[in-house]
Amino acid sequence: MPNEMKGCRTDEKTPCAGPDPAGNCAVVELLSRAYCDEWLAVLQYWTAAQVVKGFVREGVAKELKEHAEEELEHAEKLAQRIQELGGEIPISPDEYGRRCNCQYVAPSDPCSYRILVQSIASERCAIAVYQKILEATAGKDMITYHMALDIMREEVEHEHDFRQFKEDIDAIMKRMESDCKKR
Ligand code: FE
Ligand code: FE
Ligand code: MG
Repeated sequence: MPNEMKGCRTDEKTPCAGPDPAGNCAVVELLSRAYCDEWLAVLQYWTAAQVVKGFVREGVAKELKEHAEEELEHAEKLAQRIQELGGEIPISPDEYGRRCNCQYVAPSDPCSYRILVQSIASERCAIAVYQKILEATAGKDMITYHMALDIMREEVEHEHDFRQFKEDIDAIMKRMESDCKKR
């Protein structure tokens, strides 16, 4: 299987069903892809929370679970907006892995540090997705614009939460190293 088949496929576009007098088709396409990303994020963080091991495991698991819940809320906001715009949401989970922008990263290594690094990358991908939606809707579709801005703010917060955990671990590792050198 070629590599690009394993993940998100940008060539997989959903053509507008019928005429598009309101010109919403392009925005619906962006929102539908973001919707798939949100579901993958729910699954990724929820699963990671179940398997995470090692340093500050409990704190990381709690953060992952909270973020999974918030990603589900993002999916809900997108579902509503897609339908307000006359679009249809992806109704089958096999669509998530194809129509996404951000790859699903399986927690195959349950080490908390590795999961944090993967989660930071996922949040950065999500931020870029909403940046794109903001650029596409600025001055044109204020409802979608403000929804995307609200979601993006939470993605920025998520990235920061995960990054703080990682930086705490980095700081402790450094401290231990210098402690060892002293002896
Ligand atoms: Fe999200
Ligand atoms: Fe997030
Ligand atoms: Mg948080």
